Amino acid sequence: MPERGTVAARSPYHDLVDEPYEPLGDDEPLRDEEKAALRQDLVDVQVLKEVLGPKGIKGAVFYCPDCNEDHFLAWDLLAGNLQELLEAGESPVHEPAFEPDPDEYVSWDYARGFLDGYESFEQEELMEPIGRLVTELQGRGMRLDEIKGLLAHSGLQWPADDGSVGGHPSS
Ligand SMILES: [Zn+2]
Repeated sequence: MPERGTVAARSPYHDLVDEPYEPLGDDEPLRDEEKAALRQDLVDVQVLKEVLGPKGIKGAVFYCPDCNEDHFLAWDLLAGNLQELLEAGESPVHEPAFEPDPDEYVSWDYARGFLDGYESFEQEELMEPIGRLVTELQGRGMRLDEIKGLLAHSGLQWPADDGSVGGHPSS
Protein backbone atom coordinates (compact mmCIF):
# COMPACT_ATOMS: atom_id res chain seq x y z
CA MET A 1 0.00 0.00 0.00
CA PRO A 2 1.46 3.40 -0.99
CA GLU A 3 2.35 5.43 2.06
CA ARG A 4 2.07 8.95 0.75
CA GLY A 5 0.07 8.68 -2.43
CA THR A 6 3.17 9.19 -4.57
CA VAL A 7 1.72 7.25 -7.45
CA ALA A 8 -1.26 9.53 -7.83
CA ALA A 9 0.96 12.60 -7.47
CA ARG A 10 3.00 11.52 -10.49
CA SER A 11 0.79 12.40 -13.42
CA PRO A 12 1.64 11.16 -16.90
CA TYR A 13 2.61 14.75 -17.75
CA HIS A 14 5.04 15.07 -14.86
CA ASP A 15 8.12 14.72 -17.02
CA LEU A 16 6.75 16.95 -19.75
CA VAL A 17 6.38 19.97 -17.50
CA ASP A 18 9.47 22.09 -17.85
CA GLU A 19 10.51 23.08 -14.36
CA PRO A 20 14.29 23.03 -14.45
CA TYR A 21 14.84 24.20 -10.90
CA GLU A 22 12.19 22.15 -9.21
CA PRO A 23 13.67 20.98 -5.92
CA LEU A 24 14.12 17.26 -5.64
CA GLY A 25 11.62 15.39 -3.54
CA ASP A 26 12.71 13.00 -0.84
CA ASP A 27 13.03 9.88 -2.91
CA GLU A 28 12.29 11.27 -6.33
CA PRO A 29 14.68 9.68 -8.82
CA LEU A 30 16.89 12.03 -10.81
CA ARG A 31 15.34 13.06 -14.07
CA ASP A 32 17.14 12.46 -17.34
CA GLU A 33 18.05 16.11 -17.82
CA GLU A 34 19.42 16.26 -14.30
CA LYS A 35 21.52 13.19 -14.95
CA ALA A 36 22.70 14.71 -18.22
CA ALA A 37 23.68 17.91 -16.40
CA LEU A 38 25.58 15.90 -13.81
CA ARG A 39 27.42 13.94 -16.49
CA GLN A 40 28.34 17.23 -18.16
CA ASP A 41 29.59 18.52 -14.81
CA LEU A 42 31.72 15.40 -14.45
CA VAL A 43 33.29 15.99 -17.85
CA ASP A 44 33.84 19.65 -16.96
CA VAL A 45 35.57 18.70 -13.71
CA GLN A 46 37.95 16.40 -15.57
CA VAL A 47 38.81 19.16 -18.04
CA LEU A 48 39.24 21.67 -15.21
CA LYS A 49 41.55 19.28 -13.37
CA GLU A 50 43.68 18.80 -16.49
CA VAL A 51 43.80 22.50 -17.35
CA LEU A 52 43.85 24.20 -13.94
CA GLY A 53 45.62 21.48 -11.95
CA PRO A 54 49.02 22.21 -13.52
CA LYS A 55 48.45 25.91 -12.72
CA GLY A 56 48.24 25.06 -9.02
CA ILE A 57 44.45 25.19 -8.71
CA LYS A 58 43.51 22.13 -6.72
CA GLY A 59 39.74 22.37 -6.82
CA ALA A 60 36.65 24.50 -6.40
CA VAL A 61 35.03 26.13 -3.41
CA PHE A 62 31.27 25.99 -2.79
CA TYR A 63 29.26 27.90 -0.27
CA CYS A 64 27.12 25.44 1.66
CA PRO A 65 23.93 26.88 3.15
CA ASP A 66 23.52 23.80 5.37
CA CYS A 67 26.85 24.27 7.12
CA ASN A 68 26.87 28.04 6.61
CA GLU A 69 30.45 27.88 5.42
CA ASP A 70 32.56 27.31 2.32
CA HIS A 71 33.43 23.76 1.34
CA PHE A 72 36.73 23.25 -0.47
CA LEU A 73 36.56 20.31 -2.85
CA ALA A 74 39.59 19.02 -4.72
CA TRP A 75 38.85 18.02 -8.32
CA ASP A 76 38.90 14.29 -7.57
CA LEU A 77 36.68 14.70 -4.53
CA LEU A 78 34.29 16.88 -6.52
CA ALA A 79 34.17 14.29 -9.31
CA GLY A 80 33.53 11.59 -6.71
CA ASN A 81 30.67 13.58 -5.21
CA LEU A 82 29.10 14.14 -8.62
CA GLN A 83 29.46 10.46 -9.42
CA GLU A 84 27.79 9.54 -6.14
CA LEU A 85 24.99 12.01 -6.75
CA LEU A 86 24.53 10.54 -10.21
CA GLU A 87 24.41 6.95 -9.00
CA ALA A 88 22.74 7.25 -5.61
CA GLY A 89 20.63 10.33 -6.32
CA GLU A 90 21.62 12.01 -3.08
CA SER A 91 24.29 14.41 -1.96
CA PRO A 92 27.19 12.79 -0.18
CA VAL A 93 28.04 13.73 3.38
CA HIS A 94 29.70 17.09 3.85
CA GLU A 95 33.43 16.69 3.79
CA PRO A 96 35.24 18.36 6.65
CA ALA A 97 37.74 21.00 5.62
CA PHE A 98 41.35 19.92 5.82
CA GLU A 99 42.93 23.33 6.24
CA PRO A 100 42.87 24.11 2.53
CA ASP A 101 44.71 27.07 1.08
CA PRO A 102 41.95 29.31 -0.36
CA ASP A 103 44.40 30.53 -3.00
CA GLU A 104 44.42 27.04 -4.46
CA TYR A 105 40.66 26.92 -4.98
CA VAL A 106 38.41 28.82 -7.35
CA SER A 107 34.66 29.36 -7.17
CA TRP A 108 32.55 27.08 -9.33
CA ASP A 109 31.30 30.15 -11.20
CA TYR A 110 34.87 31.11 -11.99
CA ALA A 111 35.66 27.56 -13.05
CA ARG A 112 32.65 27.44 -15.38
CA GLY A 113 33.50 30.85 -16.81
CA PHE A 114 37.06 29.71 -17.36
CA LEU A 115 35.78 26.60 -19.09
CA ASP A 116 33.55 28.65 -21.41
CA GLY A 117 36.49 30.83 -22.41
CA TYR A 118 38.73 27.80 -22.79
CA GLU A 119 36.26 26.01 -25.06
CA SER A 120 35.56 29.05 -27.23
CA PHE A 121 39.32 29.52 -27.54
CA GLU A 122 39.62 25.94 -28.76
CA GLN A 123 36.73 26.54 -31.13
CA GLU A 124 38.48 29.60 -32.58
CA GLU A 125 41.67 27.62 -33.00
CA LEU A 126 39.65 25.14 -35.04
CA MET A 127 38.15 27.79 -37.31
CA GLU A 128 41.24 28.40 -39.39
CA PRO A 129 41.91 24.76 -40.34
CA ILE A 130 38.22 24.30 -41.13
CA GLY A 131 38.32 27.37 -43.34
CA ARG A 132 41.29 25.90 -45.21
CA LEU A 133 39.48 22.57 -45.52
CA VAL A 134 36.44 24.30 -47.00
CA THR A 135 38.63 26.12 -49.53
CA GLU A 136 40.35 22.86 -50.42
CA LEU A 137 37.08 20.99 -50.91
CA GLN A 138 35.73 23.84 -53.02
CA GLY A 139 38.86 23.58 -55.14
CA ARG A 140 38.00 19.92 -55.73
CA GLY A 141 34.61 20.87 -57.04
CA MET A 142 32.39 20.33 -54.02
CA ARG A 143 29.41 22.63 -53.70
CA LEU A 144 29.12 24.77 -50.58
CA ASP A 145 25.95 23.06 -49.45
CA GLU A 146 27.68 19.68 -49.79
CA ILE A 147 30.60 20.95 -47.73
CA LYS A 148 28.25 22.35 -45.11
CA GLY A 149 26.53 18.97 -44.91
CA LEU A 150 29.89 17.23 -44.58
CA LEU A 151 30.99 19.55 -41.77
CA ALA A 152 27.69 19.17 -39.94
CA HIS A 153 27.92 15.41 -40.33
CA SER A 154 31.38 15.51 -38.75
CA GLY A 155 30.16 17.64 -35.88
CA LEU A 156 32.20 20.62 -37.06
CA GLN A 157 31.01 24.19 -37.17
CA TRP A 158 30.75 26.26 -40.31
CA PRO A 159 33.57 28.85 -40.11
CA ALA A 160 31.44 31.96 -40.44
CA ASP A 161 27.74 32.65 -40.08
CA ASP A 162 27.65 34.85 -43.18
CA GLY A 163 28.87 31.96 -45.31
CA SER A 164 32.21 33.55 -46.13
CA VAL A 165 35.24 31.31 -46.01
CA GLY A 166 38.41 32.09 -44.12
CA GLY A 167 36.97 35.36 -42.92
CA HIS A 168 38.28 34.95 -39.40
CA PRO A 169 39.90 38.23 -38.37
CA SER A 170 43.61 37.90 -37.74
CA SER A 171 44.59 37.90 -34.11
ZN1 LIG B 1 27.94 21.52 4.11
